Amino acid sequence: MARECALCGKKGQYGAIVSHAHNVTKRKRQPNLHRVWAKIKGRKKRILLCTKCLRSGKIEKA
Ligand SMILES: [Zn+2]
Repeated sequence: MARECALCGKKGQYGAIVSHAHNVTKRKRQPNLHRVWAKIKGRKKRILLCTKCLRSGKIEKA
């Protein structure tokens, strides 16, 4: 299962934490994803949505 939003395709962001002493630690930040039942083309489907898409009401909940 891909960890990305089904609507906008938002994915995790990857980077590095670099301390003052230049110790490098890998870091990843995942989007706030939720599994919801949505009505797509008249059919119920369970999709992974980010909270931004959920909040904006882009999908019809089923
Ligand atoms: Zn989204």
